[in-house]
Amino acid sequence: MTEQGAGVPPGGWEASDSRLLGGFDPSPEQSQALLSAAWQLISALASGDPGRDVLGHPRGGELAATLLAQRPAAAPAPMDDALATIGEILATGVDNAAPGELAYIPGSGLLAAAVGDLIAGVANRYTGLAGFTPAAVALEQGLLRWLTELFGLPATSQGLLLSGGSAANLTALVTARDAHAPGRPEAACVYVGQHAHASVRKAARIAGLRPEHVRVCTSQDGLRLDPEAVRIAIKQDVADGLVPTAVVGAAGTTNTGAVDPLAELAAVAAEQGVWFHVDAAYGGFFQLTVRGRGRLAGIEAADSITLDPHKSLFLPFGTGALLVRDRDHLAATFAEDADYLRDHDEDPDALPDFSAISPELTREWRGLRLWLPLALHGTDAFTAALDRALDLAEWAAAQLASTPGVEVVSSPELSILTFRLAGDDQRQDRALSRIHADGHVRLSSTVIDGRVVLRLAVLSHRTTADTVAHAVELIRAAARQPD
Ligand SMILES: *Cc1c(COP(=O)(O)O)cnc(C)c1O
Repeated sequence: MTEQGAGVPPGGWEASDSRLLGGFDPSPEQSQALLSAAWQLISALASGDPGRDVLGHPRGGELAATLLAQRPAAAPAPMDDALATIGEILATGVDNAAPGELAYIPGSGLLAAAVGDLIAGVANRYTGLAGFTPAAVALEQGLLRWLTELFGLPATSQGLLLSGGSAANLTALVTARDAHAPGRPEAACVYVGQHAHASVRKAARIAGLRPEHVRVCTSQDGLRLDPEAVRIAIKQDVADGLVPTAVVGAAGTTNTGAVDPLAELAAVAAEQGVWFHVDAAYGGFFQLTVRGRGRLAGIEAADSITLDPHKSLFLPFGTGALLVRDRDHLAATFAEDADYLRDHDEDPDALPDFSAISPELTREWRGLRLWLPLALHGTDAFTAALDRALDLAEWAAAQLASTPGVEVVSSPELSILTFRLAGDDQRQDRALSRIHADGHVRLSSTVIDGRVVLRLAVLSHRTTADTVAHAVELIRAAARQPD
């Protein structure tokens, strides 16, 4: 107890310096000062300025060493000092949200989504159970219905917003394991292509499968999972007393963007009584385009689909999605009765309790970061941006195909192409360094059929024709350069 006497609660701390934030709930003036200072920090980052370097910032080694040694102070720091530290970090490293990011799977980050997060964070409504704020859950459920309808899944289906594609693949494989190999994870087998994403193997391992039970099946053309190879592998495992559990097809591999033959894989999975999961973390939202829908045909037969709105819907990192054909499977895996939830009434509108169909209990109002950009931009804007990504990748492939000394190794089925300059593997690495020295464009490399190839992926909403033309120029210059 303090000297304040009985019956009087201890007082809160109040800052007198206006440069400080004040109490935990600052005054309106202080809140506004913080928000406008934050806006100054990020305004240049919420832009598609073509001059924005993706590489070429210092790595920030010294700053990292300083920050590593730093601990939170007991006394408050002035607002400007704290934001200056963030600014210093942003002046270093790879700016992978810049227009010239053409490496790996580009992410960009829509301002409207970040504002949605801000609102969700300050309001802090609980969305793990529908009964608390049904309208908040309904808004998210409406978006998830939009997604299940977009992919042609039936009314029994249910979506989840998760933290990313890895979390979605994990949630899918755990659900498939419980549906097909309950209590026997050590006997469960999954079937993947050579170019399946590493997160699928990781998910299988976390789900308790033996690493050797992730069957890597051969490809039709070095790029696409062969359905016949999957059928043969499943039959062999049945004969050996194992439990075939899931076939995992890719709707756009990370390496080349190749789409596995989804309809044929679905048919094999159905015939063998196995779960069919489609990893569409990279390629899924091309479903919004006419060309994409044609290339992803068969995805509607999936038992589950992984999507990554933080890739092909331009959201900030931290948003993945899983769609499951039969929501009862999610409930079977994730529902858990807990005494401390006994006050919760069943919601009359039968909105989902996300905590009963996903691994999480407490979760943010995640739907808002997806809903606000869709509302403010409209779905047509996303379709147009994705169509442009398809066009630009096709254009770059045609330019490189007609460039002496450049071999296009895989043409874009979606928005990724791979190519190789005449010469050995070291030549590719040297060319990449030369291209990167420009600072405005970042590509990546990978290995296909044992050969190092360079890789150009168009996905960011900020990447324009000028950016891709500049990348092609840099590649041509590297091809002309004698080694
Ligand atoms: C990126 C990616 C993943 C993993 O998603 P994260 O959001 O990075 O966890 C899984 N599969 C494919 C095909 C991907 O491209």
